[in-house]
Formats: sequence, C-alpha cells, structure tokens
Amino acid sequence: MKKNWDLIVAGGGTSGVAAAISAARQGCKVLIVEKNSFLGGTATGALVTPMMKNITQSGENLTQGIILEVLDRLAKTGNSATFEDGNHGWFNPEMLKCVLDDFCEENNVEILFDTVVLGAEVDNKNITAIKCWNKSGLSEVQAKYYIDATGDADLAALAGVPFESNEHQTMSLRFIMTNVNLDAFARWLEEIDPDSSVTSIDYHNFESILLSTAHTWDNLGWKLRPYFSFAVREGVLKEEEDAAYFQVFSIPGQKNSIAFNCPRISSDKELDPLNAEDVSYAYKQGRKQIRRLVEFCKKYLSGFEEAYVSQIAPQLGVRDSRRINGLYQLTEDDILNAKKVEHPVAKSNYPVDVHAKEKGKNELKHLPPDQYYEIPLESLIPENIENLLVVGRCISTTFKAQASIRIQPNCWSMGEYAGKYVADKIKN
Ligand SMILES: Cc1cc2nc3c(=O)[nH]c(=O)nc-3n(C[C@H](O)[C@H](O)[C@H](O)COP(=O)(O)OP(=O)(O)OC[C@H]3O[C@@H](n4cnc5c(N)ncnc54)[C@H](O)[C@@H]3O)c2cc1C
Repeated sequence: MKKNWDLIVAGGGTSGVAAAISAARQGCKVLIVEKNSFLGGTATGALVTPMMKNITQSGENLTQGIILEVLDRLAKTGNSATFEDGNHGWFNPEMLKCVLDDFCEENNVEILFDTVVLGAEVDNKNITAIKCWNKSGLSEVQAKYYIDATGDADLAALAGVPFESNEHQTMSLRFIMTNVNLDAFARWLEEIDPDSSVTSIDYHNFESILLSTAHTWDNLGWKLRPYFSFAVREGVLKEEEDAAYFQVFSIPGQKNSIAFNCPRISSDKELDPLNAEDVSYAYKQGRKQIRRLVEFCKKYLSGFEEAYVSQIAPQLGVRDSRRINGLYQLTEDDILNAKKVEHPVAKSNYPVDVHAKEKGKNELKHLPPDQYYEIPLESLIPENIENLLVVGRCISTTFKAQASIRIQPNCWSMGEYAGKYVADKIKN
C-alpha cells in the first residue's frame, strides 16, 4: 500500500464517499480508509433511511450533485424512490452499499476496508502520515491532503485538533422487520389517522408503498398512543424506555419490510458515544429494547402478525460526538436566521432537531418559511492543521447547530465540496 496518494479520506461513510469520488473526478489519487466492511457509514451500517427532505416550500431542491446520481442509479433497480412530497431520498441501505462500491470503482477510488485509523503524525501544522491497523498489521499511509469523515473527528482529534464533546443527543440502535403486510398496515394507519395528521402514506405504485408514522412520549396527538398505553399496562413495553420515541419507514426495494428509527437507548446515566463501555452497554440495551418493540408490533399493530426481525444495525446510531474547533463555529442563530456565507459548502432548511433524554426536552425549531441557511467552508477547516478538512456531522458547530447540519443530504454536499476543494489546492 506504499503509494503516493493525493488524498486520504478517513471514513467511507455518508460524507467520506462523496469527498473521495469528488476529488477522484478532479484527477486525484484517492484512498479511503474504512473501519467497516462496507461504505455508507450511518446510512448503511446504522440503517438510517430515508434521507431527510431538504427542499424549500417553493420546491428548490437544496441538495445537488453526486448523491442525485447515486439515488438515480438505485432507482433503476427499484432501490430508491421519491416520496410524494418531492423527497427523492428514500433508499434501500443494503443496496446502497453495493452502488457505493460501484461508484468508487468507476472513479478509481481505492478502499481499505476493515482498517482503523488510530494515529497521526504531525509536523509544522501538517499531517505527514496516518497510522492504521488491519489484519495485515500496523501500517502508515501518506498523502498530500487528508479529509476526516469519521463522523467522530477521530483523525482530527489524533492530530491534535481541539474539539467540543460536552453534550450529546440520545443514541439509537435501528433495526428492520420483514414479512410485514404493508398493505394491511397502511390501511390500518388510514383508519386510525384518517386526516394523516401523524402518518404519511404514498401508494407509490402497485409494487411499493412508501409510508411513515411515529409516536413519542410527548402529548402531541399521536394516533398510536392507545396502543402504547395498552402495551405498557400489559407489561409488553416499558413507558420510560420504549414509548419515548418510535418512528417507522418503509424501504424501497425491500417490499415487505419496515425500518425502525428506534429504540433510543435508555440509561440512568448520560451515555458518551466516545466511551467504549457506554457504547457496549448501548448495543446490549438496544437489543433488549428491540425485542420488546418486536413483541409490541406483532401483538398490537395490524400487518405485523407474521413479521420477524431481519436485521439489527451492526453500527450504533450516534447522532453526535466530537465537534471540531474550526475557523468558524456555526451557531443555532445562524441557522434560524438563514445565514448566507461567502463560500457555502451546503444549503439546508432542516430544523434544529434535538432528541433529548428527558421528557419534554425534545426540540424542533424551524427556519422561517421558504428560507435556508448555508454551511461555510470555514466550519470544515480545523484551526491548527493546514492539510486537513473535516466533513460530516463533526464539523465546527455549536451543539444546537449540529442538530440541524447532521442530516445526510448536508453530509453529502459537504463531502463533495471538500473533495473538489482539495483537488483545486493540489493542482494549484
Ligand atoms: C439514529 C439516527 C437517525 C438519523 N435519522 C436521519 C434521517 O432520518 N435522515 C437523515 O438524513 N439523517 C439522519 N440522521 C443523521 C445522519 O444519518 C448522520 O448524521 C450522517 O449519516 C453522518 O454522516 P458522516 O459522514 O458524518 O458519518 P458516517 O456516515 O457515520 O461515516 C463515518 C464513517 O467513518 C468510519 N470510521 C469511523 N471512525 C473510523 C476510524 N477511526 N477509522 C476508519 N474509519 C472510521 C465509520 O465506519 C463510517 O463508515 C440520523 C442519525 C442517527 C444516528
């Protein structure tokens, strides 16, 4: 692997793949170092589907570029679809893994899977090599430029970039149930929520139904409330642990399956996504909660009678961990005031969306109607390393601002911009 790389991307997840393809298309020799056995990160490993809608009320799609090509490719085999609200980001996480392999191969991006970045050598404000571990042993790889797309800013932290990691949203462990009678589930949801107040159903075509519904422990008129109450009373669910947050989506290309954006990991103490013991607890606790939710669905929800768990995410759903100190720290005010910047790397109108541990503390703060904000390049540039950019959910923001920028469309845009930026730097 001793090659003269132009760019090494640490982490081949949502933003990392975009960065790698974008730089490679500008002629760079690019290597992705990825700890999983597949690309896609949270979108595939944590089973986070669909992408959040990032379209203005007047219909402007704020996310452009490589992700649209990826979704188009998936759509050709029925593995992505556009919801009736215009969100084209409904996709099959399992097949996304394969399509991302193809995109990297077609663009000559090399990948080292099952390889962890665990060190960085720094000289005079520049990374000179990164240390990796895989089954071949310890090794060093070198490039002119580095992009940290690990979600946790691992490479930046190893290189001595200061960061904040003082507050965290709840973590989740997502899963999929299969052999759901989707048609029966959709008709039943229509019966209990005839005004579609908390349910969205798109009878997309004869083959697939795109649907979503939710429930939380906050009293917001959830139509599933009586079913959660029965289940808690009958001892199937625990109110505090299992009724706090429940959200489901159907999946294009997985005809009879439902993806769960839950359970949120319940714990008496604050869990730190950077603490190995807390993370290990979270996997075990998540799998306990999943078994209760499965029993709940089979017993109380129409259409789930014969359903079974087909996948539990191999990767924990971590909403936030480190946020680097960059040249500019994006704030909640910037977002809610729809700030525009000189070098925008992404445009978004996603609200400040905090999944809090305590009841009544969830937040969902929207931008003014038809407005969007821009993420500045300066939030991707660490304050003390010159040949490193950071992309994805760990860029330089406050805790509240991160609760908006973290969605997949933004991560794709940041990665794509960063890849092109690095290529331009290398050429000039
Ligand atoms: C439970 C949950 C629900 C969400 N719901 C939605 C939603 O509905 N829609 C939406 O658009 N967004 C949603 N999000 C947000 C969004 O999915 C993530 O914020 C986004 O995918 C993060 O992208 P990223 O590129 O920063 O990191 P990731 O996609 O996580 O990529 C990081 C990659 O780096 C690799 N890596 C990490 N450390 C190392 C290391 N040391 N060495 C080598 N490789 C490493 C990882 O294996 C991974 O592949 C959700 C997130 C969570 C957790």
